[in-house]
Amino acid sequence: MTKEIKELGWNFDNSYARLPKSFYSSQNPVPVRSPKLIILNSPLAVSLGLNVEGLQSEKGVGVFAGNQIPEGALPLAQAYAGHQFGHFTMLGDGRAVLLGEQITPLGERFDIQLKGPGRTPYSRGGDGRAALGPMLREYIISEAMNGLGIPTTRSLAVVSTGELVIRETDLPGAILTRVAASHIRVGTFQYIAKWGTVEELRILADYTLTRHFPDVEADEIRYLSLLQEVIKRQAALIAKWQLVGFIHGVMNTDNMTISGETIDYGPCAFMDVYDPETVFSSIDVQGRYAYGNQPYMAGWNLARFAETLLPLLHDNQEQAIKLAQDAISNFMELYKNNWLAGMRAKLGIFNEEKQDETLIDDLLSMMQKYRADYTNTFRTLTFDTLDDTVLFGTPEFTKWFERWKERLQRQEESKASSSQLMRNSNPALIPRNHRVEAALEAAVKEGDYCVMEKLLEVLSSPYAHTPEQTEYSTPPVPSSSPYRTFCGT
Ligand code: AMP
Ligand code: MG
Repeated sequence: MTKEIKELGWNFDNSYARLPKSFYSSQNPVPVRSPKLIILNSPLAVSLGLNVEGLQSEKGVGVFAGNQIPEGALPLAQAYAGHQFGHFTMLGDGRAVLLGEQITPLGERFDIQLKGPGRTPYSRGGDGRAALGPMLREYIISEAMNGLGIPTTRSLAVVSTGELVIRETDLPGAILTRVAASHIRVGTFQYIAKWGTVEELRILADYTLTRHFPDVEADEIRYLSLLQEVIKRQAALIAKWQLVGFIHGVMNTDNMTISGETIDYGPCAFMDVYDPETVFSSIDVQGRYAYGNQPYMAGWNLARFAETLLPLLHDNQEQAIKLAQDAISNFMELYKNNWLAGMRAKLGIFNEEKQDETLIDDLLSMMQKYRADYTNTFRTLTFDTLDDTVLFGTPEFTKWFERWKERLQRQEESKASSSQLMRNSNPALIPRNHRVEAALEAAVKEGDYCVMEKLLEVLSSPYAHTPEQTEYSTPPVPSSSPYRTFCGT
């Protein structure tokens, strides 16, 4: 172990590696030919207690490339299963390796995972590698989500490997360093429930409680509390996605965390025109994970999670099923409450009135009918600068607008505080697909990272509403073929 590596600030613990051996496979990353640092998230590095300068040295970049194992790391690939588009299957980290858990100066614990570090025992036919474009895309979207205030895994760095990955065409290879509260998924529980013992399931549940839900760890009914807490976090998370028009695209149970963070940015994208049927993913031909379906799919995934916990919920199976069903049946209401609260804020409403839901639904129906841009409609309402957008010119909208203004007058808060609430709830910009594509094209084809860096900068504070953000709020020119995303494996 060299002095330089120590000075990088890595401070690993390996609690996951202390779990039963069947939970994972020890696996070192496979070294790459000539790693080069493409992007480093300095503020995130600092908050993790890392040395920004050191991370950029040859040794520092070597860690991100999997060529150097930092002191204290115990690299492993996690085992998990999952329902993929409804079909249960064994999965696991086929192209990811967990280096360990970084303990920050504040004592917090974060998984540090390399995505694209070569084959693992779970790789099946895959090469365990990742391409530069999709890794930069994950970096941009996950950091945009963080800027929007949505719980998410973070991106610490992307390195190019100097090797090609073979896909439909040869692409430059890359590795993303992902930071997460943990990588425990619904699929992790499914794996243990299916192939492990009840004792192992209890170990996983206890570990998860300690790591993510210490407040309920001592509850007598702690496994029911675990289920209820996960349901609460997912209800809050999915509402946040809906409120900004985020479409995950592949909400399989292996892509749903127990911590409540958004994970696995594959075919995800943000909706431009408001339409609940919007789907971007090329593989989602049935529209299973369409925008409007996301809350239902989250509920479905949580039901799969509840099933895994049945042996821990009650000795009597019928009682266990009853407890699980009661918990699951709360999800939609919890989701709806989060969503309604968020929508009220987007419209500058502080207090609650029964008719608010109709007011909101009527606006959304008009947006769908007149093909209005989701983000920009709320942004325009925020600044009260109705332009010549089709929606705003309709008599239907004029009527709705009056109803809304009257509604605002039926609350004590001033117009100024209402405007402030709207500014804090309606982003000036989202990572528009055409902007993200332009940034990736410049980076991957030209080696020009300026476009991406500028985009990341404006996306980091989407509620600032600065003049320079205006340029980034333009929707794409309508095209005859809809925008399509690919899993990017
Ligand atoms: P994802 O669609 O990224 O959620 O991945 C689904 C499963 O496929 C996970 O088990 C991944 O580890 C695995 N996988 C994806 N890409 C690769 C790859 N290039 N090599 C090996 N396994 C992969
Ligand atoms: Mg995944």
